[in-house]
Amino acid sequence: MQPTPSLPGELDASRVIVTLATELKTVPSLEELASGGFSQVMTDHMILVSYDPVHGWSAPEIKPYGPLSMMPASACFPYAINAFEGMKAYMGPDGIPRLFRPEKNMARFARSAARVALPAFNPTELLKIIRQLVTIDKRWVPAAKGHSLYIRPMIIGTRSSLNLSISDSALLWVMCAPSGPYFRNTRPLSLFAATDAVRAWPGGTGEHKIATNYGPTLTHHQRAQAANHDMNLWLLGDKITEAGIMNFFVVLRRDDGDLDVLTPPLDGTILPGITRESILALAAAHPSRMILPGLSEETRLHPAERELTMPDLETWLADGNVVEVFVVGTAVVVSSIGHIAWGAKEIVLPQYGDALGPVSKALRERILDIQEGEFEWEDWCVPCV
Ligand SMILES: *Cc1c(COP(=O)(O)O)cnc(C)c1O
Repeated sequence: MQPTPSLPGELDASRVIVTLATELKTVPSLEELASGGFSQVMTDHMILVSYDPVHGWSAPEIKPYGPLSMMPASACFPYAINAFEGMKAYMGPDGIPRLFRPEKNMARFARSAARVALPAFNPTELLKIIRQLVTIDKRWVPAAKGHSLYIRPMIIGTRSSLNLSISDSALLWVMCAPSGPYFRNTRPLSLFAATDAVRAWPGGTGEHKIATNYGPTLTHHQRAQAANHDMNLWLLGDKITEAGIMNFFVVLRRDDGDLDVLTPPLDGTILPGITRESILALAAAHPSRMILPGLSEETRLHPAERELTMPDLETWLADGNVVEVFVVGTAVVVSSIGHIAWGAKEIVLPQYGDALGPVSKALRERILDIQEGEFEWEDWCVPCV
């Protein structure tokens, strides 16, 4: 196939310049990764590409991971002109790393960058370069259940100016770190509902992965942890939005015995998670298009995007209709929620010991099997070869 012709200055994967590291690092062992979360050690290589108003996008580089150089007056520092992504590569049984629905990450990355007026780039070309990077750093993709290579694309505005103005210069890079299971076990999490702060608001930027949505949540995260909770539940009035940096789900038993699988709609205050979208799709496929592991064919799931409030949750609990509450995202995949502290109230949710509830367990298993190449589903996995 002929390479797609590009205009000069467009992000172009065919122009990649590869400089391999002369000294390779030691890959952390699975035991080291088992302590939870991401490794502090980045892989041997990174992608780096820059944009300036005269030349457009430079020839992308894959080069040894190392420090960046930029002016102290770069606009990204005071004005948070940046965007990021989070995605994972999983090692398949055939020894080929796979990305999970990466075109969705690329599209969201482009939207986030556009929201802070950063230069546009071709997401398809960026994905090609990421696949090449993962192939080069393949020995860093852990071949163990629940393990993966976390991939963090970043773009920042580097215009050297103290004025608040659009950054016509940018740096885009992609770095990777191996990761173990995010939480050491599947114990249900405890949430602390912030009643004096919101994460996102109508007309705000909550649906984008840009720095301003994250840094300011840390005081509340710290407070939640000091009170022995795992993370915040972010409300808007009494409306449930997200927990930590994860999308929120509740499973309800209906009068007809079927199960509703509900999550708040994408109204601009919710980050459009790819795990969220995948959970909705998998729930819709059961049982007509696939049987989820451990769920009976008779169990019908009705996924829906619906506004959820704390009073709703209390009512459903009082009526005995809540089957389980869980949260989802690339980092954790799926975790169950056991408690919510909300003002003076301590809301106790259905728990299944140290295990997940029946629906989240089925969905988690299936999504991991798809990600790890054990179960083929649509075109959700993109091999890196
Ligand atoms: C990234 C993120 C999520 C999860 O999105 P995924 O695409 O599933 O990883 C959820 N909420 C917030 C606020 C996030 O930043």
